[in-house]
Amino acid sequence: MVINRIAPHYYEEPPISGNNGSGTVFFGGCVMKCDFCQNAVISRAPKGKKYTPRELADEIKRLEDKGVHNINFVTPTQWSDQIKRTLDIYRPNVPIVYNTSGYEDLDVLKGLMPYVDIFLPDYKYSDCTLAKRLSKRGDYPSVALDAIELMVKEKPTIYNGDMLKQGVIIRHLILPGYLDNSKHALDLLVERIGTDLTISLMSQFTPMPNCTDPNRRLKPIEYKMIINHALKLGLTNIFTQEISSAEEEYIPDFDTKE
Ligand code: SF4
Repeated sequence: MVINRIAPHYYEEPPISGNNGSGTVFFGGCVMKCDFCQNAVISRAPKGKKYTPRELADEIKRLEDKGVHNINFVTPTQWSDQIKRTLDIYRPNVPIVYNTSGYEDLDVLKGLMPYVDIFLPDYKYSDCTLAKRLSKRGDYPSVALDAIELMVKEKPTIYNGDMLKQGVIIRHLILPGYLDNSKHALDLLVERIGTDLTISLMSQFTPMPNCTDPNRRLKPIEYKMIINHALKLGLTNIFTQEISSAEEEYIPDFDTKE
């Protein structure tokens, strides 16, 4: 596997990061090619250091010894087989988080179910044209929706105190100027899964040089409109962000190991 960063991370949703941080493993490469990717330095190509399953298992033990609340595999899709081999070598005593774009193959996902406790899938697009233009994946809306439906079915929500022990948090990054995409994405999720889902509405879109449209930050009024739409649909388990989180300082420092 190619891995770029292994370190506790404090900027996930509160039941994932808690006080001690989430033990993140940032993999190199990604199955999507989003123009607006904040992690473009590592997602465009598998950039980083090579690890065998045995070596990653040792790193997982080290993270666990630091007291992290979970082990969080970030953009893991292209390495799913090796991740399973790693967890066959060592299974930590904290939950395993699979932090994915949502663009997952259903058979691969089924094979991951015995290994993963928490899924953090994106649901980026309801609009196929936008998905094709910005991420080169015109079939994303239906592929990701099928994948998320399976995740929710297989992993009912279980909390251990304030921390998530098992379950699914669906993330939606609101694209400035594309509010219909966001509203319809929420409509589709509720239509397919119902209102008993947990959604994280992300305001952190940060303009990146590769992306000319959108190329501005989200306005507070836009964010409010999407939150109101979610509430109108009957969603109650909603995580929101401070608009100030749309800063480059929240982008992890890649090429580091803490
Ligand atoms: S899915 Fe996430 S990591 Fe992958 S290219 Fe898109 S924004 Fe970047």
